[in-house]
Amino acid sequence: MGATLEIRNLHAAVAEDHKPILRGVNLTIKQGEVHALMGPNGSGKSTLANVLMGNPAYEITDGDILYNGESVLEMEPDERSRAGLFLAFQYPVAIPGVTLANFLRHAINARMKAKDPESKGISIPDFRRLMRGKMDQLKMDHSFAGRYLNEGFSGGEKKRAEILQMAVLEPNMAILDETDSGLDIDALRIVSDGVNTLMGPGLGVLVITHYQRLLNYIKPQYVHVMFEGQLVESGGADLALKLEETGYDWIREKYGVVTE
Ligand code: ADP
Ligand code: MG
Repeated sequence: MGATLEIRNLHAAVAEDHKPILRGVNLTIKQGEVHALMGPNGSGKSTLANVLMGNPAYEITDGDILYNGESVLEMEPDERSRAGLFLAFQYPVAIPGVTLANFLRHAINARMKAKDPESKGISIPDFRRLMRGKMDQLKMDHSFAGRYLNEGFSGGEKKRAEILQMAVLEPNMAILDETDSGLDIDALRIVSDGVNTLMGPGLGVLVITHYQRLLNYIKPQYVHVMFEGQLVESGGADLALKLEETGYDWIREKYGVVTE
Protein backbone atom coordinates (compact mmCIF):
# COMPACT_ATOMS: atom_id res chain seq x y z
CA MET A 1 0.00 0.00 0.00
CA GLY A 2 1.34 3.43 -0.93
CA ALA A 3 1.92 6.41 1.30
CA THR A 4 -1.01 8.75 1.90
CA LEU A 5 -1.11 12.29 3.22
CA GLU A 6 -4.50 13.20 4.56
CA ILE A 7 -5.40 16.72 5.62
CA ARG A 8 -8.63 16.65 7.60
CA ASN A 9 -10.72 19.70 8.44
CA LEU A 10 -7.53 21.59 9.15
CA HIS A 11 -7.84 24.91 10.95
CA ALA A 12 -4.69 26.90 11.69
CA ALA A 13 -3.91 30.34 13.06
CA VAL A 14 -0.87 32.56 13.45
CA ALA A 15 0.62 31.45 16.79
CA GLU A 16 1.54 34.95 17.88
CA ASP A 17 -1.85 36.63 17.65
CA HIS A 18 -4.16 33.63 17.00
CA LYS A 19 -5.32 35.16 13.72
CA PRO A 20 -7.14 32.36 11.87
CA ILE A 21 -5.85 31.57 8.38
CA LEU A 22 -6.78 28.00 7.43
CA ARG A 23 -10.48 27.39 7.95
CA GLY A 24 -11.21 23.75 7.33
CA VAL A 25 -8.92 22.31 4.64
CA ASN A 26 -9.60 18.78 3.42
CA LEU A 27 -7.21 17.13 0.98
CA THR A 28 -5.86 13.63 0.44
CA ILE A 29 -2.74 12.96 -1.62
CA LYS A 30 -1.59 9.47 -2.48
CA GLN A 31 1.81 8.30 -3.65
CA GLY A 32 1.97 8.56 -7.44
CA GLU A 33 -0.41 11.53 -7.66
CA VAL A 34 0.39 15.10 -8.67
CA HIS A 35 -1.83 17.76 -7.12
CA ALA A 36 -1.63 21.48 -7.79
CA LEU A 37 -2.74 23.98 -5.20
CA MET A 38 -3.59 27.36 -6.68
CA GLY A 39 -5.29 30.47 -5.41
CA PRO A 40 -4.97 34.24 -5.14
CA ASN A 41 -2.22 35.82 -3.06
CA GLY A 42 -2.97 35.75 0.64
CA SER A 43 -5.39 32.84 0.43
CA GLY A 44 -3.32 30.63 2.75
CA LYS A 45 -1.33 28.39 0.39
CA SER A 46 2.07 28.97 2.00
CA THR A 47 0.51 28.72 5.44
CA LEU A 48 -0.68 25.23 4.53
CA ALA A 49 2.83 24.29 3.40
CA ASN A 50 4.30 25.69 6.60
CA VAL A 51 1.80 23.86 8.76
CA LEU A 52 2.52 20.60 6.93
CA MET A 53 6.19 21.13 7.72
CA GLY A 54 5.50 21.85 11.39
CA ASN A 55 6.49 25.51 11.43
CA PRO A 56 5.94 26.70 15.03
CA ALA A 57 4.82 30.13 13.80
CA TYR A 58 1.38 28.53 13.31
CA GLU A 59 -0.95 26.73 15.69
CA ILE A 60 -3.42 24.03 14.70
CA THR A 61 -6.77 24.92 16.21
CA ASP A 62 -8.79 22.04 14.77
CA GLY A 63 -8.51 19.05 12.49
CA ASP A 64 -5.56 16.79 11.82
CA ILE A 65 -2.78 15.90 9.38
CA LEU A 66 -2.35 12.16 8.93
CA TYR A 67 0.57 10.54 7.19
CA ASN A 68 -0.05 6.87 6.50
CA GLY A 69 -2.91 7.04 8.96
CA GLU A 70 -0.89 8.53 11.81
CA SER A 71 -1.10 12.10 13.03
CA VAL A 72 2.07 14.09 12.40
CA LEU A 73 1.02 17.01 14.62
CA GLU A 74 3.31 15.95 17.44
CA MET A 75 6.22 15.20 15.10
CA GLU A 76 9.15 17.61 14.76
CA PRO A 77 9.98 18.78 11.24
CA ASP A 78 12.97 16.41 11.00
CA GLU A 79 10.83 13.45 12.10
CA ARG A 80 8.35 14.33 9.38
CA SER A 81 11.18 14.41 6.91
CA ARG A 82 12.50 11.02 8.03
CA ALA A 83 9.00 9.60 7.71
CA GLY A 84 9.14 10.48 4.00
CA LEU A 85 7.67 13.98 3.77
CA PHE A 86 9.69 16.55 1.87
CA LEU A 87 9.18 20.27 1.88
CA ALA A 88 11.14 22.19 -0.65
CA PHE A 89 11.88 25.16 1.56
CA GLN A 90 12.96 23.04 4.50
CA TYR A 91 16.48 24.40 4.56
CA PRO A 92 16.35 27.76 2.83
CA VAL A 93 19.12 29.34 4.86
CA ALA A 94 22.67 29.82 3.72
CA ILE A 95 25.09 27.81 5.83
CA PRO A 96 28.54 29.36 5.52
CA GLY A 97 31.28 26.83 4.88
CA VAL A 98 28.94 23.89 4.26
CA THR A 99 28.77 22.56 0.75
CA LEU A 100 25.63 21.11 -0.70
CA ALA A 101 27.32 17.69 -0.80
CA ASN A 102 28.29 17.90 2.88
CA PHE A 103 24.85 18.99 3.83
CA LEU A 104 23.25 16.10 1.97
CA ARG A 105 25.68 13.57 3.43
CA HIS A 106 24.79 14.78 6.93
CA ALA A 107 21.10 14.53 6.12
CA ILE A 108 21.53 10.93 4.92
CA ASN A 109 23.64 10.03 7.95
CA ALA A 110 21.11 11.55 10.34
CA ARG A 111 18.44 9.37 8.81
CA MET A 112 20.56 6.24 8.97
CA LYS A 113 21.38 6.94 12.63
CA ALA A 114 17.73 7.59 13.44
CA LYS A 115 16.91 4.15 12.03
CA ASP A 116 19.91 2.42 13.59
CA PRO A 117 21.91 4.15 16.36
CA GLU A 118 24.89 1.90 15.56
CA SER A 119 25.03 3.05 11.95
CA LYS A 120 28.27 4.69 10.86
CA GLY A 121 26.51 6.47 8.03
CA ILE A 122 27.10 6.29 4.31
CA SER A 123 30.68 5.71 3.15
CA ILE A 124 32.32 8.42 1.08
CA PRO A 125 32.57 6.25 -2.05
CA ASP A 126 28.91 5.20 -1.75
CA PHE A 127 27.89 8.79 -1.24
CA ARG A 128 29.89 9.95 -4.26
CA ARG A 129 28.31 7.26 -6.39
CA LEU A 130 24.84 8.24 -5.18
CA MET A 131 25.42 11.95 -5.84
CA ARG A 132 26.83 11.33 -9.30
CA GLY A 133 23.90 9.12 -10.20
CA LYS A 134 21.35 11.65 -9.02
CA MET A 135 23.08 14.60 -10.68
CA ASP A 136 23.31 12.69 -13.95
CA GLN A 137 19.64 11.78 -13.72
CA LEU A 138 18.81 15.47 -13.24
CA LYS A 139 21.36 16.60 -15.86
CA MET A 140 23.21 18.72 -13.31
CA ASP A 141 26.84 19.62 -13.48
CA HIS A 142 28.81 17.66 -10.86
CA SER A 143 30.55 20.82 -9.68
CA PHE A 144 27.24 22.02 -8.28
CA ALA A 145 27.56 19.72 -5.25
CA GLY A 146 30.73 21.57 -4.25
CA ARG A 147 28.98 24.89 -3.91
CA TYR A 148 28.41 26.38 -0.48
CA LEU A 149 24.81 25.88 0.45
CA ASN A 150 22.63 28.71 -0.77
CA GLU A 151 25.52 31.17 -0.54
CA GLY A 152 25.04 33.52 -3.44
CA PHE A 153 22.68 31.09 -5.12
CA SER A 154 20.45 32.56 -7.80
CA GLY A 155 16.75 31.77 -7.68
CA GLY A 156 17.32 29.01 -10.22
CA GLU A 157 20.24 27.53 -8.28
CA LYS A 158 18.22 27.45 -5.07
CA LYS A 159 15.54 25.51 -6.89
CA ARG A 160 18.17 23.20 -8.39
CA ALA A 161 19.56 22.54 -4.89
CA GLU A 162 16.06 21.74 -3.63
CA ILE A 163 15.44 19.31 -6.45
CA LEU A 164 18.79 17.61 -5.79
CA GLN A 165 17.85 17.31 -2.10
CA MET A 166 14.60 15.75 -3.14
CA ALA A 167 16.36 13.29 -5.47
CA VAL A 168 18.84 12.26 -2.78
CA LEU A 169 16.38 12.02 0.11
CA GLU A 170 13.83 10.08 -1.99
CA PRO A 171 10.67 11.20 -0.20
CA ASN A 172 7.28 9.55 -0.68
CA MET A 173 5.51 12.88 -0.56
CA ALA A 174 6.87 16.24 -1.68
CA ILE A 175 5.37 19.67 -1.13
CA LEU A 176 6.82 22.34 -3.39
CA ASP A 177 5.84 25.90 -2.60
CA GLU A 178 6.58 28.22 -5.46
CA THR A 179 7.17 31.55 -3.85
CA ASP A 180 5.33 33.77 -6.24
CA SER A 181 7.96 36.43 -6.65
CA GLY A 182 11.09 36.19 -8.68
CA LEU A 183 10.57 32.77 -10.14
CA ASP A 184 11.82 33.24 -13.64
CA ILE A 185 11.22 30.88 -16.53
CA ASP A 186 14.63 29.29 -16.00
CA ALA A 187 13.79 28.41 -12.39
CA LEU A 188 10.35 27.19 -13.41
CA ARG A 189 11.91 24.82 -15.92
CA ILE A 190 14.41 23.50 -13.38
CA VAL A 191 11.66 22.74 -10.91
CA SER A 192 9.35 21.18 -13.45
CA ASP A 193 12.03 19.14 -15.24
CA GLY A 194 13.20 17.89 -11.85
CA VAL A 195 9.71 16.99 -10.69
CA ASN A 196 8.93 15.31 -14.00
CA THR A 197 12.17 13.30 -13.79
CA LEU A 198 11.55 12.21 -10.20
CA MET A 199 7.85 11.68 -10.63
CA GLY A 200 6.65 8.12 -10.53
CA PRO A 201 4.57 5.64 -8.62
CA GLY A 202 6.70 6.14 -5.51
CA LEU A 203 6.18 9.89 -5.21
CA GLY A 204 3.19 12.05 -4.39
CA VAL A 205 3.52 15.77 -5.11
CA LEU A 206 1.68 18.88 -4.03
CA VAL A 207 2.79 21.81 -6.16
CA ILE A 208 1.73 25.16 -4.78
CA THR A 209 1.60 28.01 -7.22
CA HIS A 210 -0.14 31.29 -7.81
CA TYR A 211 0.46 31.15 -11.53
CA GLN A 212 -0.94 28.76 -14.05
CA ARG A 213 2.28 28.88 -16.09
CA LEU A 214 4.10 26.34 -13.88
CA LEU A 215 1.38 23.92 -14.88
CA ASN A 216 2.46 24.26 -18.50
CA TYR A 217 5.45 22.17 -17.45
CA ILE A 218 4.07 19.97 -14.69
CA LYS A 219 0.86 18.15 -15.52
CA PRO A 220 -1.22 17.69 -12.39
CA GLN A 221 -4.01 15.13 -12.23
CA TYR A 222 -5.79 17.21 -9.63
CA VAL A 223 -6.10 20.97 -9.23
CA HIS A 224 -7.43 22.68 -6.11
CA VAL A 225 -8.17 26.34 -5.53
CA MET A 226 -7.69 27.88 -2.11
CA PHE A 227 -9.62 30.99 -1.16
CA GLU A 228 -9.71 32.55 2.28
CA GLY A 229 -8.26 29.48 3.93
CA GLN A 230 -10.50 26.87 2.34
CA LEU A 231 -10.32 24.71 -0.76
CA VAL A 232 -13.29 26.03 -2.67
CA GLU A 233 -12.87 24.28 -6.02
CA SER A 234 -11.28 21.01 -7.07
CA GLY A 235 -11.00 19.50 -10.50
CA GLY A 236 -8.67 18.20 -13.16
CA ALA A 237 -6.06 20.00 -15.27
CA ASP A 238 -8.92 21.84 -17.04
CA LEU A 239 -9.53 23.85 -13.86
CA ALA A 240 -6.02 25.30 -14.14
CA LEU A 241 -6.68 26.24 -17.77
CA LYS A 242 -9.89 27.96 -16.78
CA LEU A 243 -7.97 29.98 -14.16
CA GLU A 244 -5.40 30.92 -16.77
CA GLU A 245 -8.15 32.32 -18.97
CA THR A 246 -10.37 33.90 -16.39
CA GLY A 247 -8.12 34.68 -13.42
CA TYR A 248 -9.43 34.49 -9.89
CA ASP A 249 -12.23 37.05 -10.15
CA TRP A 250 -14.97 34.47 -10.54
CA ILE A 251 -13.64 32.72 -7.41
CA ARG A 252 -13.89 35.99 -5.49
CA GLU A 253 -17.37 36.62 -6.80
CA LYS A 254 -18.56 33.13 -6.05
CA TYR A 255 -17.01 32.74 -2.62
CA GLY A 256 -16.09 36.23 -1.44
CA VAL A 257 -17.93 38.01 1.31
CA VAL A 258 -19.82 40.99 -0.13
CA THR A 259 -18.65 44.16 1.57
CA GLU A 260 -20.26 47.49 0.87
P1 ADP B 1 -0.49 32.66 0.04
O1 ADP B 1 0.70 31.77 0.12
O2 ADP B 1 -1.70 31.98 -0.50
O3 ADP B 1 -0.22 33.94 -0.70
P2 ADP B 1 -0.14 32.99 2.90
O4 ADP B 1 -0.38 31.64 3.49
O5 ADP B 1 1.25 33.43 2.76
O6 ADP B 1 -0.95 33.10 1.52
O7 ADP B 1 -0.93 34.07 3.77
C1 ADP B 1 -2.31 33.98 4.07
C2 ADP B 1 -2.72 35.11 4.99
O8 ADP B 1 -2.17 34.90 6.28
C3 ADP B 1 -2.19 36.49 4.56
O9 ADP B 1 -3.17 37.43 4.89
C4 ADP B 1 -0.94 36.67 5.38
O10 ADP B 1 -0.68 38.02 5.62
C5 ADP B 1 -1.33 35.95 6.67
N1 ADP B 1 -0.15 35.38 7.34
C6 ADP B 1 0.53 34.27 6.94
N2 ADP B 1 1.54 34.01 7.78
C7 ADP B 1 1.50 34.96 8.74
C8 ADP B 1 2.31 35.23 9.90
N3 ADP B 1 3.34 34.44 10.23
N4 ADP B 1 1.98 36.31 10.64
C9 ADP B 1 0.94 37.10 10.31
N5 ADP B 1 0.16 36.90 9.25
C10 ADP B 1 0.42 35.84 8.45
MG1 MG C 1 2.60 31.82 -0.79
